[in-house]
Amino acid sequence: MTRQSELHAEVLVIGGGPGGYTAAFRAADLGKQVVLVERFPVLGGVCLNVGCIPSKALLHSAQVIHESQEIAKAGIVFQPPKLEFDNIRDHKNKTVRTLTGGLEKLAKVRNVTVVTGEATFASDKTVAISGSDEVKTIRFDNAIIAAGSRPSSLPGIDMGNPRIMDSTDALKLEDIPKKLLIIGGGIIGLEMATVYHAFGSEITIVEYMDQLIPGCDADLVRPLHLMLKRQYKNIYLNTKVTEVKSLAKSVKVSFEGENAPDTESFDKVLVAVGRRPNGDRIDAGKAGLAVDERGFITVNDKQQTNVNNIYAIGDITGNPMLAHKATHEGKVAAEVIAGMPVAFEAKTIPSVAYTDPEIAWMGVTETEAKSQDMEYDAATFPWAASGRAIGINRKEGLTKLLFDKQSGRIIGAGIVGPNAGELIAETVLALEMGADAEDIGLSIHPHPTLSESVAFAAEMATGTITDLYHPKK
Ligand code: NAD
Repeated sequence: MTRQSELHAEVLVIGGGPGGYTAAFRAADLGKQVVLVERFPVLGGVCLNVGCIPSKALLHSAQVIHESQEIAKAGIVFQPPKLEFDNIRDHKNKTVRTLTGGLEKLAKVRNVTVVTGEATFASDKTVAISGSDEVKTIRFDNAIIAAGSRPSSLPGIDMGNPRIMDSTDALKLEDIPKKLLIIGGGIIGLEMATVYHAFGSEITIVEYMDQLIPGCDADLVRPLHLMLKRQYKNIYLNTKVTEVKSLAKSVKVSFEGENAPDTESFDKVLVAVGRRPNGDRIDAGKAGLAVDERGFITVNDKQQTNVNNIYAIGDITGNPMLAHKATHEGKVAAEVIAGMPVAFEAKTIPSVAYTDPEIAWMGVTETEAKSQDMEYDAATFPWAASGRAIGINRKEGLTKLLFDKQSGRIIGAGIVGPNAGELIAETVLALEMGADAEDIGLSIHPHPTLSESVAFAAEMATGTITDLYHPKK
């Protein structure tokens, strides 16, 4: 921290999440003098503090609980777990602190000046800082906006009521409600449902669309849906929440939809209906920056905005709002500023739902391929034929690969099953490298692994599979 009230930065980065700190560190490594402004006293943004990292720490605990129950089918019977919530919260908080503390050190060794405060543009060369006693203004040659997004809400819902949570509140794990309603059957809703179910809540999910995780292919979502149907009280699809009424000891919710009751009372409600970009919070107009009506900032493939010396990365530039997109964009912005001939040219950005089973997909989905009249071949390998999947009692999994009919190259992949999030990485590399089914099928995969399912799916496409009877016609 500095004592000057005005600072100068060759590169100013606004926002200390994965996109922002990556951009700042890369710019510093390329010899730039960098100032990173973050409104919270710790670096790491939503991902490290109230998103990916704490949720995965809790999901790990949920998985252990679930597996300790499932293993009874294989003759190992555990007593029901004793849940010590102070220690559970402690483990999650320690995980977060380890990572955010590491970032502080990484900033220090690179001589990146970190300013705690909120930056808003005063012009296309300066930002005003509020919330910091030391720094009031920062002049910059180049700025990278990495100001992220925040949870969306629904009209008429009182987010101030402690019984109504957004994802940040839910991760605090203040208590375990007996009856929990989750509005939104997307990734956040389902990940938090997994956690609260493992810790003892009775879960109801209400989803506006006709399936959970609407952006994903239905055949990949089906095994998850079947599993959740057994575990949860209700999953209402094609259903809208019309009113959320706060009562003294509960929340009364009105529904309109297929199988939902007119009203039902819950102890707590989690609103997980998407996130909105923070483009409306940075006084963009004073820098002449174009922000669309939703709060997104448009950029080109060099992450440049409509203002020459101002770049934007991560959630604020558009969907998908994923940390791994932001980090790659952050590197591009820093390298462009340093004069390198680079652009953001990723062929795909993979998506993962860390549910149980996990779902991961990349490239085009089959739904998109169909709706765009693409000429493609789909090859699906059911995990019921995988020795490893049978051994861990997870036969419900599927690995699906999509290939372009003309070139034979992979254009998409989807996996449902434990570790799908790890397994999808191979297909991302295959897509980036322009691999076809033979490239994948002839690459020797270790046996017996779940990763074999990717090779087996490729063999389904080439007609060379012997673990199933599926000769190519
Ligand atoms: P989402 O868009 O993935 O899901 C929101 C869901 O809510 C959708 O299915 C939508 O149809 C439904 N919905 C919207 N309005 C509704 C209404 N009125 N009633 C009922 N349902 C309604 O959003 P999210 O789950 O909140 O996640 C936000 C962002 O964060 C996404 O971009 C997501 O990719 C990202 N994220 C990613 C991960 C991960 O990579 N594992 C984890 C968490 C969040």
